[in-house]
Amino acid sequence: MNRPTLPTFVFAILTSAALAEGGFYGDPPDATHPWGIHDMNRPQPPRVEPGTATTAPSDAVVLFSGKPEEIEKWISDKNGEPTKWVVKDGVLQCVPGSGYIRTKEEFADCQLHIEWSAPSKVEGSSQGRGNSGVFLMGAVEVQVLDNYNNPTYPDGFASSIYGINPPLVNPLNAPGEWQSYDIVFRRPIFKDGKEIDPGYITVFVNGVLTQDHTPLEGGGGHKARSKPKAFPEKGPLKIQDHGNPVRFRNIWYRPLPKRFVDGGEYSRMSEEATAAKRAEIAQGIREDAAKLEGNAKMLRLFESLCYAENAEAKEFALAAVNDFAAAMKAVPADKIESKKGEILQVAKALRYLAQFKILAEEPAARQELEAIIKANDWEPKKK
Ligand code: MG
Repeated sequence: MNRPTLPTFVFAILTSAALAEGGFYGDPPDATHPWGIHDMNRPQPPRVEPGTATTAPSDAVVLFSGKPEEIEKWISDKNGEPTKWVVKDGVLQCVPGSGYIRTKEEFADCQLHIEWSAPSKVEGSSQGRGNSGVFLMGAVEVQVLDNYNNPTYPDGFASSIYGINPPLVNPLNAPGEWQSYDIVFRRPIFKDGKEIDPGYITVFVNGVLTQDHTPLEGGGGHKARSKPKAFPEKGPLKIQDHGNPVRFRNIWYRPLPKRFVDGGEYSRMSEEATAAKRAEIAQGIREDAAKLEGNAKMLRLFESLCYAENAEAKEFALAAVNDFAAAMKAVPADKIESKKGEILQVAKALRYLAQFKILAEEPAARQELEAIIKANDWEPKKK
């Protein structure tokens, strides 16, 4: 499906408005944050076309969308052979007795969407009614069960992390109707045999939060208390055959980026990784500056110094700013108004560099420009 993307010109306007700030805006990068606050050098979030009620987002891996041939993405968990589960009317249905199915595809941290429907003919009770299950990495079961009007042990309830944690609430529709699960799964992380992250699951059932960043305790299990354990790098998604003809549709996942890409501690960058990233950002800004001229080039080089030292960039920018101040000093009083914008822009950058001690010592240009601003009463009025 083609959807209009945000017109490029809207981005252009937003970008130029923010870049008009020319950097020198929020707090600068620090030892564990490679970007400043409100930093336009930070990459824009990648565009993803959102899904609809029946389609996946554009960056999702579709595991089942209703096509009969998609059964080939699944195999019998028992023997790896083609599964006996069936696709009928755009729906994937469990055939009781045929065993669990699993995806050929293996993955780990993800956002998973899956819809299911328990038989409308109500049979059985407790764990015997409309039972199936969604097993992340083949190990952690998010329970599928018709609990519309069917009490059972709470840690085995629909959308429980089976054997570990009951859902917060029961937002199920009646049997025969469709239920949607939106799951965010983070696998446990162990290092040298030690747990450094238990892994977490968040679940929304029919749009209602039922698992709120629930920490895992291993894989969970029947009767036995599971213990924290290391998980492999990835695993398949499994769906349970628990003897009930539960139906499924609209199954997709979006892989999530690793939480330790930067080599830092959980959700925080290490100082080494931050320094490396800052050097990379500074390099990019210097490359950008090389395409510019005049004050734009000078300001961009000063901006690069907020990320990383660079003697050449510093020398060039300092010489340029002192030249600029000298030129402004030479402008006759009746012509200076036409230079107001440029002078305020450069002065703002110099104030920022001084405030955050980006330069070891202040350039003479700063006081010269401040003197011009004062003499002409250009000081921006405080709101
Ligand atoms: Mg189950």
